[in-house]
Amino acid sequence: MKRSTQIGLAAAGVVMVATYWSLSGGESEDSLVYSNLAECRAANQLSTSQCEQRFNEASANHLREAKKFTSSASCEQEFGSGGCQSAVWNNAQVFIPALAGIMLARGWPLGDKLSMLKVAVGWQLKKFQCAPGDSVADLCRGLAPGAMAALIEPLCVSALNTPAQRASGQVFLRVMRDALFAESGGSNLLLPRTDLSALLPDAALAWLSAQGNAPRLGARVQAIAPAGSGWVVSTDTSEAFDCVVLACPPHEAARLVEGSGVAAGDWLAQAQELQYEALTTVYAWAPGARLELPMLALPANAAEPAQFVFDRGQLSGPPGLLAFVISASTGDSATLTAQVLAQAKSQLWHLGLGSMEAVQTIVEKRATFACTPGLQRPRAEVAPGLYACGDYIAGPYPATLEGAVRSGLEAARHLH
Ligand SMILES: Cc1cc2nc3c(=O)[nH]c(=O)nc-3n(C[C@H](O)[C@H](O)[C@H](O)COP(=O)(O)OP(=O)(O)OC[C@H]3O[C@@H](n4cnc5c(N)ncnc54)[C@H](O)[C@@H]3O)c2cc1C
Repeated sequence: MKRSTQIGLAAAGVVMVATYWSLSGGESEDSLVYSNLAECRAANQLSTSQCEQRFNEASANHLREAKKFTSSASCEQEFGSGGCQSAVWNNAQVFIPALAGIMLARGWPLGDKLSMLKVAVGWQLKKFQCAPGDSVADLCRGLAPGAMAALIEPLCVSALNTPAQRASGQVFLRVMRDALFAESGGSNLLLPRTDLSALLPDAALAWLSAQGNAPRLGARVQAIAPAGSGWVVSTDTSEAFDCVVLACPPHEAARLVEGSGVAAGDWLAQAQELQYEALTTVYAWAPGARLELPMLALPANAAEPAQFVFDRGQLSGPPGLLAFVISASTGDSATLTAQVLAQAKSQLWHLGLGSMEAVQTIVEKRATFACTPGLQRPRAEVAPGLYACGDYIAGPYPATLEGAVRSGLEAARHLH
């Protein structure tokens, strides 16, 4: 039996795509190689769109790596008659050796694949459970360093915004279970082609307004206080409500709960003890800069810290603008900016970026809570008639939109 699942995990501004192969029943790896798109489709091991996506990626990689010729004749001289194809590279027509085929395991050495498989089967056998104190690094003891560096570390930091050494093994296993082992469609790689406000908040506001609930924007809640069987909420004015749901970050929710004077000591302690991880986005621009794909994973290390780069030009932004994302970032804005510009120069040299200018760097110091082993997160119910929701509320997921939405639904259920 053969299984292939594409993981698309979106977290902390980044997405990670990986391919996991489970091989058994004596099939050889050779059968994972498809020489063309039609063969991939006909094999029926991947959906048509997965085949297309893999071939597009393989073609882009091939174009990047291949030796380029200015004429078909000079290419065929080296690669034989019919052995070349034409392509466009840096706005010019070139000829490159024809793509012979792709092996969908993406060039991992066999030892790394087997090592990953062994570790993943171990997770599955333990029903994706581990000791509460285990970190992701603990879960991966024995894993080949190549698989750790190429898959686990970027996946962990992008999903949990916390490095593997201090990230919660249990939360990571839950993400892996849902992403890798759930039914097809359990997770998808989503890249917004449109403005994010239009995609979600504007649509939600329009829906709320259509239901006759006009939201009040820009009204900061300064204080809440119990009053009889309900609550008074103070912005510039004060209003009475039956219940309150705090849908703000944990430090702000803790401020409001503490100020209200309600007895919620445990809740407050857990909210106040949360630690945070930063996330940095470095926007840089170069004339004509265009990635082969709307996003690429980058090999990251302490000196070259960006794990992902997004081509804003292909995602409804201005052409030439690249957004480099550093999950769980450390260091100041100026240093990170300089490191990313150097990283772009060394890792994206093939794009011929010329002089790349930093446009803006945004360091979000409290981007997400640190998703550490054994972390006790606050529950939804704070006090009678007072609830909290947000990505930090106790739940199976790290700080993600999915976690926040689930928590919002749970708070809403308390109101009925
Ligand atoms: C740069 C970045 C990129 C990210 N990318 C991804 C991603 O690709 N995928 C993903 O799943 N997650 C991503 N995340 C995480 C995701 O954004 C969060 O998990 C999610 O937004 C949390 O939702 P929330 O409702 O808990 O809190 P928030 O989205 O922080 O919303 C809280 C709201 O409360 C408001 N507020 C605060 N105080 C008050 C007050 N006193 N009165 C009234 N309102 C108040 C704030 O203005 C804010 O609008 C990213 C986070 C960052 C920082």
